[in-house]
Amino acid sequence: MPLAACPECDAEVHVDEDVDKGELFTCEECDAKLVVVGLDPVELDLAPEDEDDDYYDDEEDEY
Ligand SMILES: [Zn+2]
Repeated sequence: MPLAACPECDAEVHVDEDVDKGELFTCEECDAKLVVVGLDPVELDLAPEDEDDDYYDDEEDEY
């Protein structure tokens, strides 16, 4: 199973052998959202965090 380095904490992250660019992973060490940006070797980058709409909706309900 290939390993890639987490760009946030440098931990080794296990990825599937048939991984594709754009697939998302979560680093088990620092919980960073990672996206595959390169193959052979696998390269990871921090994923954009634009998908927290539900979180913000919950916050607004407290007012
Ligand atoms: Zn990490």
